[in-house]
Amino acid sequence: MKEGIHPDFKECTVTCACGNTFVTKSIKPEIRLEVCSACHPFFTGQQKFINRGGRVEKFKTKYHIE
Ligand SMILES: [Zn+2]
Repeated sequence: MKEGIHPDFKECTVTCACGNTFVTKSIKPEIRLEVCSACHPFFTGQQKFINRGGRVEKFKTKYHIE
């Protein structure tokens, strides 16, 4: 009875600034992102955290903490 009240979701190609692309459902046919799951700070931040952990290990070794 009330047709058109729901957004018309279609396949949407999402393109990220890092070059990654994936397909999702959206009312837009195309979306451009600056960050995605491949380049989001959460993931790059985890990498930095791992590197920082490595430096802590060197610190412990240098000062014979463990
Ligand atoms: Zn990205």
